[in-house]
Amino acid sequence: MTHSYRITLLPGDGIGPEIMSVTVDVLKVVGQQLDISFEFNQALIGGAAIDTTGEPLPAQTLEMCRQSDAVLLAAIGGYKWDNLPRHQRPETGLLGLRAGLGLFANLRPATILPQLLDASTLKREVVEGVDIMVVRELTGGVYFGQPKGLFTTETGEKRGVNTMAYTEAEIDRIGRVAFETARKRSKKLCSVDKANVLEVSQLWRDRITQLASKYPDVELSHLYVDNAAMQLLRAPKQFDTIVTGNLFGDILSDAAAMLTGSIGMLPSASLGNSNPGVFEPVHGSAPDIAQQDKANPLAQVLSAAMMLRYGLNQPQAAESIEQAVLKVLEKGDRTGDIMSPGMKQLGCRGIGESLIKVLENA
Ligand code: NAD
Repeated sequence: MTHSYRITLLPGDGIGPEIMSVTVDVLKVVGQQLDISFEFNQALIGGAAIDTTGEPLPAQTLEMCRQSDAVLLAAIGGYKWDNLPRHQRPETGLLGLRAGLGLFANLRPATILPQLLDASTLKREVVEGVDIMVVRELTGGVYFGQPKGLFTTETGEKRGVNTMAYTEAEIDRIGRVAFETARKRSKKLCSVDKANVLEVSQLWRDRITQLASKYPDVELSHLYVDNAAMQLLRAPKQFDTIVTGNLFGDILSDAAAMLTGSIGMLPSASLGNSNPGVFEPVHGSAPDIAQQDKANPLAQVLSAAMMLRYGLNQPQAAESIEQAVLKVLEKGDRTGDIMSPGMKQLGCRGIGESLIKVLENA
């Protein structure tokens, strides 16, 4: 039976359109091979949307996303929009998309591919075999807690305020995503907090511990965030799935990502309860290499694989894309960012063509 999905494409800015174009071609080939049909609809976000409509997330874009089965996003931002007021900045569009779709869970894998072992700045024996999934809470915590803002004290001094707050329900729903994710992997979950200092973290630890009784097959551990940061660099192989709040997750997921040494290779998924998920590379819009056919499209392509696995429940199609990426790397095809001696340097389009060839010969 043909499965049919409506996908909203948000190419955004900088290298976004280039890496999106490669990814759509890959999806079309995999779709034909596995009897999956995609209806692609494109919409504006970020700087491209500001230039056309004056706002970074037009209502029409959000509505199109809501009506789709999944959203594939590339990247937003660039020098041109850096000095606009905050509500008109490209990043505001991204936050609006996450909030508008209720995307409270951000999944970021950091996997060391054997073909790219030498791209890491850490020693081979420390990183070889690393396969971590960071589950970050995305719509709560200190980025959204009230009160927040810049206030003036009685003495006329400015005071900046943000509030780290989580309700039990917010902790439970991200906790469930994390336990379910760990279940699909090696069944090991590490919850990261700062419960020795913060009340909000004590609540986090209590709720995650309570939730563990519903997942007896998953081994739960806890770490304070400062120790987690050290352990990630010292012995990253001890981790499988990590769950943590918004701020700690923002920092730790970047640190975990850098174990792999190649920002152009890292995908992510943002999930909610009922709305479609958003699947996007971890990197930004790389304005320094935009429109030069230099961008590595593999993070975007791997984001499409995450879309198939976590958003559309099509694991076979996801696996097919992931295997094609590995084979392209095995052949020695590389973009500049992951180039090493003896390999063949290609542009964004060249890597796309190589992927299609591998898929067609699989
Ligand atoms: P960046 O990730 O865009 O680029 C950092 C460095 O990595 C650059 O040298 C870039 O050339 C390189 N790089 C990134 N992706 C690459 C790829 N696929 N292939 C090859 N090289 C790649 O981060 P930045 O320079 O700090 O930010 C640039 C713009 O992107 C800013 O406007 C920023 O706000 C925005 N940004 C957007 C997102 C997003 O859309 N989610 C995330 C981060 C930054």
